[in-house]
Amino acid sequence: MPSLKIAMVSSEIHPFAKTGGLADVSGALGKYLDFRGHDVRLFMPYYDVLKHGESHFQPVDFLQNIPVAFNGFTLYFSVLTTTLPGCNADVYFIHCEGLYNRGSIYTDHGDEYLRYALMCHATLLICQRMGWGPDIFHLNDWQCGLLPLLLKTHYQWDGLFSRSKTLLSIHNIGYQGVFSAEVVDKLNLGPYAMMIPQEDLAGDMINYMKIGLVHSDRLSTVSTTYAWEIQTEEYGAGLHNLLRHFSHKLVGIVNGVDYEEWSPEADPYIPRHFSREDLSGKTDNKIALMKNLGLPYDPDAPVYGIIARLTPQKGFQLLEPFLLDFVASRKMRLVVLGSGEGRFQHLFQHAQYHYPDKVCFYEGYNNALSHLIEAGSDMFIMPSQYEPCGLNQIYSLRYGTVPIVRKTGGLADTVQFYNWEDNSGTGFVFEYFNSDSLQWAMNYAHQTWHHKDSWRQLMLNGMAQDFSWDRQVEEYIRLYREMVG
Ligand code: ADP
Repeated sequence: MPSLKIAMVSSEIHPFAKTGGLADVSGALGKYLDFRGHDVRLFMPYYDVLKHGESHFQPVDFLQNIPVAFNGFTLYFSVLTTTLPGCNADVYFIHCEGLYNRGSIYTDHGDEYLRYALMCHATLLICQRMGWGPDIFHLNDWQCGLLPLLLKTHYQWDGLFSRSKTLLSIHNIGYQGVFSAEVVDKLNLGPYAMMIPQEDLAGDMINYMKIGLVHSDRLSTVSTTYAWEIQTEEYGAGLHNLLRHFSHKLVGIVNGVDYEEWSPEADPYIPRHFSREDLSGKTDNKIALMKNLGLPYDPDAPVYGIIARLTPQKGFQLLEPFLLDFVASRKMRLVVLGSGEGRFQHLFQHAQYHYPDKVCFYEGYNNALSHLIEAGSDMFIMPSQYEPCGLNQIYSLRYGTVPIVRKTGGLADTVQFYNWEDNSGTGFVFEYFNSDSLQWAMNYAHQTWHHKDSWRQLMLNGMAQDFSWDRQVEEYIRLYREMVG
């Protein structure tokens, strides 16, 4: 079969810039599409917080000072490039100092709409100047929402794109890029403003995600359960009716994991490797984790891990009523890595203050520590209110770190309920979003941990699961082929 030309557009791509799973997915998918022999090129902004690693960013001489006209003002961007580590795919970085030098990837500044409008224009302009007409524009989240509209309007004249199809992947419907309708004028859409959902304009707003949903050829989201959930009022964040209307173009594809980065056999961030065949290294990682965080190691105390953006989506409000009692009444350790809302920081700070020998809260972002937590914990807590896919529970399975999850979205698709009668299943799953249910699941996990043979089998069940991109990438390729016909 002929190879495909795929433009992967994303506001964050691992290992250059990351706030969450979106970066992992864009980077890994790019890499595995390249492995399959497709011509995949990636596009993202050149933020000042970009991680260079060992990559050398080269300016592209024919892509310098390119103007983009908005209403009453013009922005200029230039392009730098490097290859995606671990493969041969090229990444194109859109450099516009005034927009992307902000000290963080996302901002709450008044021109956030412009930062990602420029990313969409720039992607199309770069393709034009390279004379490269992608078969597929694979767009990710609201930041790419304008691109399908631009393709149908401003860039419609260009035969280069006449066969291009657009796929918008929804990584989190909770973030939609909603701005005041005032920005429409600045975007310079002219008569094409008619193609923005008019009910939004009547409500004095513009919603980038919605524009993307309406104008993309196909839609995908990152698990099959979430694809269904977002068509309901409870999970659709106001877009459920629209998504139901477009259900014929929506598909759910569970995220993969890049096991070259996340596996206990090869992880460069952990002190000792281990595997299904030889679990002995797990304890060494646990000891290292305790040492690293200044907690005393106790072989009789299971370690609970948490790594997350601390937002209500992640569900830690369910811990509030019982966390202190839970910690007080058991031999256990709790390690938390994350940052976010004060309410959740306070919860974990409070627990650490009262039980400094049992709880450690590391506030911030730390990739190396996240690997060590996966390797050194016994259990991993993800009580999400909603979870489009979730990656940490999949990493946990691979590291023999048993996930405790709520049955929603990708958590429901990737973790199977553990049944003590026949030792089947891979984790502790609870259904209802309330504290009693989470507490029940944590109690069940805690008791099971003390039955060493059962626990070992449970770890092995999880470690045998395969969510590799090597497999999941095929689902995207199938979808792309369906789209190009
Ligand atoms: P989301 O995209 O909603 O944040 P996911 O589970 O899909 O959740 O992906 C989160 C990714 O971000 C994982 O790779 C996780 O390890 C990483 N991550 C989240 N918070 C931190 C943190 N504080 N430090 C390091 N990595 C983090």
